[in-house]
Amino acid sequence: MVVAIAVFALLPIEASDAGWLPDLFRSSPKHAKSPKRAKATRVGKLARHRAPPRHRAMRLAALGPVTLPLSALKPAAAKCDPATFRIVLDVGHTAQSEGAISARNVAEFTFNLRLAKLIEERLKAEGFAETRLLLTEGKARPSLFKRVAAANNLHADLLMSIHHDSVPNKMLEDWEFEGKKSHFSDRFSGYSVFVSRDNPDFKTSLRFAELVAGEMKAQGLHYAEQYSQAIMGRYQHPLLNKDTGVYSNDELIVLRKTAMPAILLEAGSIINRDEEREMNSPERQNLISSSVASAVKEFCEPRWALLGPP
Ligand SMILES: [Zn+2]
Repeated sequence: MVVAIAVFALLPIEASDAGWLPDLFRSSPKHAKSPKRAKATRVGKLARHRAPPRHRAMRLAALGPVTLPLSALKPAAAKCDPATFRIVLDVGHTAQSEGAISARNVAEFTFNLRLAKLIEERLKAEGFAETRLLLTEGKARPSLFKRVAAANNLHADLLMSIHHDSVPNKMLEDWEFEGKKSHFSDRFSGYSVFVSRDNPDFKTSLRFAELVAGEMKAQGLHYAEQYSQAIMGRYQHPLLNKDTGVYSNDELIVLRKTAMPAILLEAGSIINRDEEREMNSPERQNLISSSVASAVKEFCEPRWALLGPP
C-alpha cells in the first residue's frame, strides 16, 4: 500500500510486510521536505495545456481597457482539450507482486486493476480518448522505475496511481474466512489522496489531488484519518487538507520521479471487512469512477483565475 519504507534496505522483499509496502519505497531515506526544492523545479510539461494565470494576467493587462468576448478569457479551455489530454491510470503493484491482501484474501492488484479499468472506461466515455491504463510487470521495486519511465514515455499530462489501503502488520487481527486463517483490521477505513512535494509540478499535482478528494467527499465518502496520527509511526504523513483528505508523501517514487503532475489514490480499505465488501460493490466502484471523472473534467475546465466562475 501506500507507505514509504525508510528501512527497506533491512527488509528482504519477500518479508511478510511485502504485501502492503513494496510499491511505495522511498527512493532516498535522507530526503527531507524542502519547499525550496519543490519550488525550484516547478516546470511541468502541462504548461502547454495550461497557461499560468500570471501570464494571462500580464497578457490581459497589456490589452488595456478593451472589452473581450467571454471566449477570449478562457485560455485553459483551448489548452486542455479532452480529445488530446492524456491521463495515465497507473495500476498499483503487479501480477507478480500483488500488494496488500484483503481481509478475504484477494490481492490488492485485483482491486486496483478492476477500478482502474472502470475509471478508464468512464473517462473515455466523457471524451478523454487519450486515457491510458498503465500495467506494469515484475518485482515491486524495479516496477516502480518501469512505471515512471512508461508514464514519461507516454507524455502523460497527468498521472494517477490507483491503490487500495491496508494497515501495518502489527495492527492485523486473525479471523477465519471460508475455512482459511485470514487477517483483518476494522479499525480504519476511507479513501486518501497523496502527493509528493518533490514532484516537478507539485502545485498542479496538489490541485488535482484536491479535486479528486473533494469529489470523493462530495459523494459522501470519508477519508482515512489515521495517516495524520502518531499511531502510524513511520507511516504518518502531513495532512495537507484536513477537510478532504489530501496527504503528502514526498518520497513515493511514482509521484516524485514522474515528469508530469501525479497523485496516488487509495480508493478505500480492503483490510477492513465492511469496506472490503463496499469496494467490491458496483455502486461504490461507480461512485469512485464518477468522482475521478468529475475531477478530471473540472481540472480541464477554464481556470477562471482572473474572473472567478461564470
Ligand atoms: Zn498499494
